[in-house]
Amino acid sequence: MQIERLSAWNDQGDQPLIIAGPCSAETEEQLFNTATELYNNGIRIIRAGVWKPRTRPGTFEGIGEDALQWIQNIKKKLDVKFAIEVANAQHVELALKYGIDILWIGARSTVNPFTIQEIADALKGNDVPVFVKNPLNPDLALWIGALERLNQAGITKLGAIHRGFSTSKKVKYRNLPQWQIALELKRKYPEMPMICDPSHIAGDRELIQSLSQKAMDLVYDGLIIESHINPAEAWSDAAQQVTPAALKEILESLVIRKSNTDNPEVQNHLAEMRERIDEIDREIFDTLAERMKIVDQIGEYKKDNKVTVFQVNRYKEMMQARTEWAEDLNLNQEFMENIFSLIHDAAIRRQTLIMSETESKA
Ligand code: PEP
Ligand code: MN
Repeated sequence: MQIERLSAWNDQGDQPLIIAGPCSAETEEQLFNTATELYNNGIRIIRAGVWKPRTRPGTFEGIGEDALQWIQNIKKKLDVKFAIEVANAQHVELALKYGIDILWIGARSTVNPFTIQEIADALKGNDVPVFVKNPLNPDLALWIGALERLNQAGITKLGAIHRGFSTSKKVKYRNLPQWQIALELKRKYPEMPMICDPSHIAGDRELIQSLSQKAMDLVYDGLIIESHINPAEAWSDAAQQVTPAALKEILESLVIRKSNTDNPEVQNHLAEMRERIDEIDREIFDTLAERMKIVDQIGEYKKDNKVTVFQVNRYKEMMQARTEWAEDLNLNQEFMENIFSLIHDAAIRRQTLIMSETESKA
């Protein structure tokens, strides 16, 4: 993909790109007051949902074109850019007609290649910046496919927004972050600006600060955060929006660490510690190879003595012991259980293979 660096089209120095504003434009007054307070707190790009994809019909589905007029009016008074969501060709046409500065594609649209193609076709010949939110489901190829469709339509000011992935489980977050999916996108396309949407990951304003810090620690290029003049009264996503003042506090609290340093002393020390990590990883691999050898021997022995591969009691005892070891060693239990169940699965697979080899020989 041919993608422009963020710094080529947005003048933010070495600061993260910050987009903030209400989930939805509700009234001209709400939008103007929110934008003004955000502007006074240093925000220069305002988000606002103009068309809202809602799960159930009969709820507030956005103001539509009138809100675009409000945005034009506000831009005459405040020196800000506006970002809005587009979900079809008509939205694109109207957004461009009203001079919207940045577009984004919502998670419910990214899942549908027909929708993305329609939007891409409507954008042909324009060079407006477009951000693509991850699809609802954790499918990296679908996310990349949407970015490719826009890129092929000539959009080079392109970026990705990580807003988390739908889950039916009752968990801390409204949407599971699954950070590794966004990091994998960044590994494949290092030049792709990646911004984090902690609001839609969290679903809860109390979690915005820690998610934003995490995104900064993972070297994201920016944040898009929902902010409303009166969050409790918001017409959509009330629980996750923060006031402009709270947003300012969150942003001021963030520690922005550098991913690279020119200091040779720091570089040397990091290199030494990484060498040690490489050694330890090699030891882990050697130990695993050793373990698999024993697994194979046990497999042969089970085969000779007509004993089943899987032994439920043994598995329960093993898991129990390893959970205790994790606790003793101050390792996250769930993490160790995941690793161990992968190792156990691989062992079972090897022994099953040994058994079937016997049968075919017999
Ligand atoms: C939004 O940004 O308000 C929105 C609808 O987000 P998402 O597409 O991530 O659900
Ligand atoms: Mn929202």
